[in-house]
Amino acid sequence: MFGNRIARLAVIATAVAIGGVAITVTATPAGAATCNGYVGLTFDDGPTGSTGTLLNVLRANGVRATMFNTGQNAQNNRSAAQAQVTAGMWVANHSWNHAHMTTMSQAQMQSDLSQANSAIQSATGVRPQLFRPPYGETNGTLQSVASSLGLRQVIWDVDSQDWNGASVAQIVSNASRLQAGQVILMHDGPQNTRDAIPQIMANLTSRNLCPGMISPSTGRAVAPDGGGGGGPTTPPPGGGGSCTAAASYPNVWGDRYNTSVTVSGASSWTVVVAVSSPQRITTTWSGSASVDSSGTVLTMRSNGSGNTFGFTTMFNGNSGGRAQIRSCTAG
Ligand code: ZN
Repeated sequence: MFGNRIARLAVIATAVAIGGVAITVTATPAGAATCNGYVGLTFDDGPTGSTGTLLNVLRANGVRATMFNTGQNAQNNRSAAQAQVTAGMWVANHSWNHAHMTTMSQAQMQSDLSQANSAIQSATGVRPQLFRPPYGETNGTLQSVASSLGLRQVIWDVDSQDWNGASVAQIVSNASRLQAGQVILMHDGPQNTRDAIPQIMANLTSRNLCPGMISPSTGRAVAPDGGGGGGPTTPPPGGGGSCTAAASYPNVWGDRYNTSVTVSGASSWTVVVAVSSPQRITTTWSGSASVDSSGTVLTMRSNGSGNTFGFTTMFNGNSGGRAQIRSCTAG
């Protein structure tokens, strides 16, 4: 059931002479991710004042996710709800105002979910097809009410524990348990959740897993182009443009190495590159750089310095690894 999509697997080879020895290095350009399976990244309890910041992080990392909104928050933050859809996210129903729904009568459940659907649809133009009960608390009555409104109930397979004060490392560790088809619970608000996203993506990429949509028919994560996910299949993150980034390693010393990245296909771009811990990215040039708190993930934006940028990475004992391109987003 998982489309085995292998995007352009162009591989560049660069011969670098170091100390008289020719070394061939390869890098996988962005857009060449191999998706052997999909996982559903979900963010609950929005939209809020934090949503715009979260969407920026998701877009910069090439992530499409499912946003379980409460109806009340969608009504109170209409532009943030619209921004979710514009950024390529799927919007879903997380009740009207996060009550404990299993204590409700059937009529109250019906009213609550209908009101939430209406508010989300009014704000976003998209009618939800997925429902997550607050606190994951459900029963047969609630499931049948949801079903009668065309909502598929989705709980989660992995709890990031971000609602419980989990650290960035703990969130990343929890997400590393995700298997193909599974869904992880995260939230709209926490800073640690946003800070964990680059490392979560690095882990998923290393396992050939990609962010997908949640199927309204099965409740499992599937390829984003499956359609009917309660949201649009376009635009992709980054505003629709595509670009390719290729890495080479022109200088290697005893304690560090330089990476040179050349972007093609766009003059305005954002490239995400990652190194393997304990390596640490230190100096960067020819772009507007942001390095995450772990020092292993660099988000570089074009700043008018051309289409080639670079950076220095300290080995810190891992002299074998080389920086890998994560994504290239145009615009
Ligand atoms: Zn919630």
